[in-house]
Amino acid sequence: MAKKIPTRLYLSEDEIPKFWYNLRADMKEKPDPILHPGTLQAATAADLEAVFCKEPVKQELNDTDRLIPIPAGIQEFYTAYRPAPLVRAYFLEKALGTPAEIYYKHEGTNTSGSHKLNSAAAQAFYAKEEGLTSLTTETGAGQWGSAMAMAAAFYGIKLTVYMVKVSSEQKPYRKSLMETYGASLIPSPSDTTEAGRKILEQDPNTGGSLGCAISEAVETAVKTDKCRYVLGSVLNHVLLHQSIIGQEAKAALDKFNVKPDIIIGCAGGGSNLGGIIAPFMGEKLAGKSDTRFIAVEPASCPSFTRGRYAYDFGDTAKTTPLIKMQTLGNGFIPSANHAGGLRYHGMNSVLSKLYHDGFLEARAEVQTDVFDAAVQFAKIEGILPAPESSHAIKAAIDEALECKRTGEKKVILFGLTGTGYFDMSAYMAYNAKTMSDHIPTDEELARGFATIPDIPQNA
Ligand SMILES: *Cc1c(COP(=O)(O)O)cnc(C)c1O
Repeated sequence: MAKKIPTRLYLSEDEIPKFWYNLRADMKEKPDPILHPGTLQAATAADLEAVFCKEPVKQELNDTDRLIPIPAGIQEFYTAYRPAPLVRAYFLEKALGTPAEIYYKHEGTNTSGSHKLNSAAAQAFYAKEEGLTSLTTETGAGQWGSAMAMAAAFYGIKLTVYMVKVSSEQKPYRKSLMETYGASLIPSPSDTTEAGRKILEQDPNTGGSLGCAISEAVETAVKTDKCRYVLGSVLNHVLLHQSIIGQEAKAALDKFNVKPDIIIGCAGGGSNLGGIIAPFMGEKLAGKSDTRFIAVEPASCPSFTRGRYAYDFGDTAKTTPLIKMQTLGNGFIPSANHAGGLRYHGMNSVLSKLYHDGFLEARAEVQTDVFDAAVQFAKIEGILPAPESSHAIKAAIDEALECKRTGEKKVILFGLTGTGYFDMSAYMAYNAKTMSDHIPTDEELARGFATIPDIPQNA
């Protein structure tokens, strides 16, 4: 007889995965290589090591090893907050009156409040091992900066965070959280870099942007001795670290012989989505399952559903290597009114390839619908979700309601990537009914597409 499935499908501490799963090893069709922006040849480890730490660079370029051991020093840190709970959403199922089974993997139980700590820990550990003394990074909404500050404090490495100026003004508590963990916070653009000074000269009152903060953080890393730059999404090594989400979820579900029919994740740069789907997508690529995978993005920044599949820069200053990805163009400026950290013009290359090849679906949701779902979830399941995570909640609810209509008893798994305690200004706007939806016009998108580099590979 089948065991009754508990509300929380816990794993024990020694069941935390000891390996990350590298989905690229199981892709027959690999994503196109990262290109050096000068030579337009495949970027080498030496090219990337000027900016990034050595071990993550190896992981970035590795599309052959399936399982990559998690070093003991990272496993140790993971025990501080993992395994993350996998929850059966019995309350939500009942409230919706759906025959579907709904599960969510809750990555918001650590102090930084999101899944980003999984990669922050790995990147800080490798930096320390390599003998570096400091790191730089940027943060927009603040979750990545918070996660890096925690990891840098644990491994004893200095951290400078360029925080988009408007965010540092709107989110003073995020700023103090990072400072409490010992990070140096610099509102971007700043006068500490050439990139920042140049932007300030053009527009002294600018609120900054993620692209500009990236340029400042990279410049400082390159100019400082024993210092490198770390990034919290988009790149393949970040997805690799996040595969722990999917592996834990799969291990917990396997104990009860539960096989998801639909897996849903919100998509900014793609790291949580790439992480939660990894082992399940591996089975699908091997022909062993027929799971559907759904990426949910904001309608204000629709890199999957309205983007182009092309080589593009990762930053607005056009300094990074070129990545073949779903992109709105490096010059695309998403509407500032959309809450949360899904405002990035591009998308991870593995996910872009899977989307292009028909293995991954995508949909875009407007902000007020997403917050309707967030508040519904908060009241029913008791957890205040991050605005980003609520995109996945919205799609999970819609799929569960579709099951109600058809009578199908599907199994739905989604990623609850974080909590929304530092996003109260967005909830305030929602409650006050001042929140608005922005869907870019075709003309707005065309301005972004015009910034995609005109290189032979894009012809
Ligand atoms: C950063 C963030 C995201 C989006 O980033 P991905 O790399 O696409 O996963 C989603 N949810 C939360 C809570 C975040 O902090």
